[in-house]
Amino acid sequence: MQELVEETAEPAFVMRDREIDTAHGKARLTTLVCEPLEHAGFVNAFSTRLGGVSALPSDSLSLAHFKGDQKENVAENRRRFLKAIGTEGARIVTARQTHSNERCTIESPAQAIGPQPECDAMITGLPDVLIAIQTADCLPVLIGDTKTGTMAAIHAGWRGTAGRITERTIADMMLLHGVNTRDCFAALGPTACVDCYEVGQDVIDRYKSEFGYWRQVLVNFKENGKAHLDIRAANVQQLRFCGFDEDRIYVADYCTMHQNELFFSYRKEGKGQPSGVGRSLSVIGKRSGS
Ligand SMILES: [Zn+2]
Repeated sequence: MQELVEETAEPAFVMRDREIDTAHGKARLTTLVCEPLEHAGFVNAFSTRLGGVSALPSDSLSLAHFKGDQKENVAENRRRFLKAIGTEGARIVTARQTHSNERCTIESPAQAIGPQPECDAMITGLPDVLIAIQTADCLPVLIGDTKTGTMAAIHAGWRGTAGRITERTIADMMLLHGVNTRDCFAALGPTACVDCYEVGQDVIDRYKSEFGYWRQVLVNFKENGKAHLDIRAANVQQLRFCGFDEDRIYVADYCTMHQNELFFSYRKEGKGQPSGVGRSLSVIGKRSGS
């Protein structure tokens, strides 16, 4: 008689520890990787705050410039990050993010080293370029299309999500780059979870007027007029609406506020940190020839 073997699903996200050499000795970095996206040919990583040189409060891996940190620290942190994820020499492209729903396409190597574009989602098909979203609580969404090799990195906070930034980015991928969502993978990274993400009346009103499914993304209404926003569910809805295969949407179960020892959190640290809050990077790219 044949025995039934229970299948255990592999976790889609893995925390990877890497020890790397630096000018000041060894450093240990931890990054979160979506393996199915990686197996589909896309280098991807969601940074943690471990293993850097920024005093936020100490040894922090803050990967984006802001007034509370020195440029040299961010440069050293980025060097370490690239080494840890095995993409030394790749170009990190960040945008000037403004919580909008604007997208831009990085079309040429010249554009990749040019001035920062102002947008909240980037699309590219270029190899050896890592398009990177900066967050400290907002949701980073990475998308890779296996057919055309087109990639996207999206900054989805409450404003961008209300402006349907994920849907708009996918529409650009389809219209401008010939992408079919059936061939795509999506990875949703660490963010403030629904239990931590309290929102006020302005956000509630905006979501109620924008989304027929608002009851699935706004929960736990309180007498003081506040509620909780499930930013992951809201973006999963947008991916579904665009025809994403349910099996190819991966949602990381890490909360920037619950796991503040691993991730920067603006909501958690913003008030107590006079120098400001560090920034994580979520990156996607592909190597030349792949
Ligand atoms: Zn949480």
